[in-house]
Amino acid sequence: MLQYPKLEQALKYHFGYDQFRPGQRQIIEDALQNRDLLIIMPTGGGKSLCFQLPALLKPGLTVVVSPLIALMQDQVEALRTNNISATFLNSSLNAFKVRSREEALLQGKIKLLYVAPERLLSERFLPLLDLVKEKIGISTFAIDEAHCVSEWGHDFRPEYRQMKSLRKRYPDVPTLALTATATDRVRADIIQQLGLKQPSIHIASFNRQNLYYEVRTKTKTAYAELLGIIRENQGSGIIYCLTRKKVDELTLKLQHDKISVLSYHAGLTDDERSKNQTRFIRDDVRVMVATIAFGMGINKPDVRFVIHYDLPRNLESYYQESGRAGRDDEPSRCTLFFSFSDIKTIEWSINQKTDPQEQLISKQQLRQVIDYAEGTDCRRTIQLGYFGERFPGNCGNCDNCLYPKPVQDWTIEAMKFLSCVARCKERFGMLHIIDVLRGGKNQKITQNEHDLLSTYGIGKDKTLDEWRMLGRSLLHQGLLEQTADGYSVLKLNALSWEVMKRQRTVSIAVPVAQKVTWEEGSTKAAEAEVLVQRLRSLRKQLADEQSVPPYVIFHDSTLKLMSQVQPQTLIDFGKLSGVGSHKLAQYGEKFLAEIKAYRREQGLPEQKVEYLPSYHSPSDNSPSYTELQTLQLHQQGLSVTEIARQRDIRTTTVIRHLSDLIQKNQQVDFNLLVPPEKQQKIWQVLETLGDISLTPIKEYLGDNYSYDEIRLVRGKWRRENRK
Ligand code: ADP
Ligand code: ZN
Repeated sequence: MLQYPKLEQALKYHFGYDQFRPGQRQIIEDALQNRDLLIIMPTGGGKSLCFQLPALLKPGLTVVVSPLIALMQDQVEALRTNNISATFLNSSLNAFKVRSREEALLQGKIKLLYVAPERLLSERFLPLLDLVKEKIGISTFAIDEAHCVSEWGHDFRPEYRQMKSLRKRYPDVPTLALTATATDRVRADIIQQLGLKQPSIHIASFNRQNLYYEVRTKTKTAYAELLGIIRENQGSGIIYCLTRKKVDELTLKLQHDKISVLSYHAGLTDDERSKNQTRFIRDDVRVMVATIAFGMGINKPDVRFVIHYDLPRNLESYYQESGRAGRDDEPSRCTLFFSFSDIKTIEWSINQKTDPQEQLISKQQLRQVIDYAEGTDCRRTIQLGYFGERFPGNCGNCDNCLYPKPVQDWTIEAMKFLSCVARCKERFGMLHIIDVLRGGKNQKITQNEHDLLSTYGIGKDKTLDEWRMLGRSLLHQGLLEQTADGYSVLKLNALSWEVMKRQRTVSIAVPVAQKVTWEEGSTKAAEAEVLVQRLRSLRKQLADEQSVPPYVIFHDSTLKLMSQVQPQTLIDFGKLSGVGSHKLAQYGEKFLAEIKAYRREQGLPEQKVEYLPSYHSPSDNSPSYTELQTLQLHQQGLSVTEIARQRDIRTTTVIRHLSDLIQKNQQVDFNLLVPPEKQQKIWQVLETLGDISLTPIKEYLGDNYSYDEIRLVRGKWRRENRK
């Protein structure tokens, strides 16, 4: 096999990125060795690239199994803007389209095929696949969302179970399984169900360093704070609410406040939902207010904030939902609004459950969410802890690390609270205890004669919320217990008595009135923002012309780079991360023009020299990446026309590559390209006339000789004469 040029070069050429994300390189190397692979990476980790790049570097077709139609279309669109021949087959296509795509497959025009499992394994499709394997070859099966194969996962799909038969039918085709969620059990299941053979297993860290996590107490100012977050931010955002009703209410309020917003929940028709989703993806609307159902099939990489306006059901879903922010690795924000009344609502709904086991699990999960929300440790430490990953803390990118809450000694208050529990004979819940402490006058108090207790009214100096905060904290610190029978009766334990006997002090973290604003940069960044906005509208316009989401043209991060670097030549533009060869050719001029216009208006100097873009310096005698690709196909025995078709480039370009490759001493089978007798003749002419342009040579030789042939021989002649 041909020695591949540096993988980084291939990454830049096809996808425009400068560097691999953690893990990607190793995975791709394994994939190129045709190993079976199990890849576990968080959302936004960059899983797709792990099979997309090998698909381009290996001969044959890569078949990608994906469960959601929306995801398939999305990925195919993104690949196409990089000029990568990918397509999908699913139930949304009519018979005519299916047929033409199948033909393209058989002609070897497709490198990546996305397909749903049920179609892949259908009686109709398998014979076609056999044919593809015979004629073109199948390089890999990539199974996306592989946890769907397991009943132990959260998204079991019976169709995925059939996949094992693929292994039987094509035992020599390597399989690569990818997922963002996998417990040990699911992991083992994936390996077994898909029949992976000694797979190389890659588990990435679930820490998403670009996400800023914060929890805010949901007070009366919550809506104003929410509005602040939305206005502070230029990009897209998702706001999750617990119920349909709340979604509708909040949407209306935000619309009233002139925010570009739509809603998404089960009460809308399929059509409305998919319309709203598309408008969000295409940046026609900036904010989506949704129930948790939203976001599953969405790859939008530039979601800048995810706000949970209500409490999430459990930490795992909080991680997944908030993780829909910042897939592009750009700074993004995850805010959770936390209120005690939400806890009540959820507790109530848990108590409606009839299965005691289910109730218990839900309660435990709720407890974990509360722990997270109330926790004073690094948010990452708490979150990753639930996935069994140890994180040392001090992340520098969460509210607790950046603005640690002051800890106060509340021993006296704790003693008051606990003795009140004792005086009430451990038969009441938190609210009643607080009522007694604050000297309430309700019926429950008088009936039980709790107004006669020594602890009655000794806590008037603190508010209801403050006492609640203390109560919660005592529970978390294990200084107090609570029954799990749905009544949440407070009970004392040995530690409670230690506190009351003054053998133990109690400290709690007290939230200060938070005036935390989230800085995204300096004033210089604000200036650059003007240009970013212009580039953004240009991107939107181009995206609309092609009916694709804006992010498939360039990511936000690339727009940002453009505005920071302000390149003025195509060569510099091509160096930006996110600009691959195809996008450079396709969009380079347009974005450059916008940047130049901006600079002119700002009175900034213009740079005159313009070089042609090239991926290697001319003096460099090593082949460029694109030349090597041509060489590889040539060495596989493809003719010039076949290479041109497969690579979707012109035949003259192929010829130029080959002739340059000859000059660069690469192994080109010359006799396949130019018949030996013609070679001789052309050579003679060159010896006589010297290194001149092609036209006079062609005139001399006549119609039997093509420009291509002359160009090729001249390449060889130049090589010989240079020595
Ligand atoms: P996942 O499937 O793991 O959630 P994706 O494959 O969708 O993640 O990748 C998330 C985003 O990151 C995509 O928009 C992708 O283009 C981008 N990306 C992937 N690899 C890189 C890289 N090496 N450099 C920059 N961006 C990358
Ligand atoms: Zn932290």
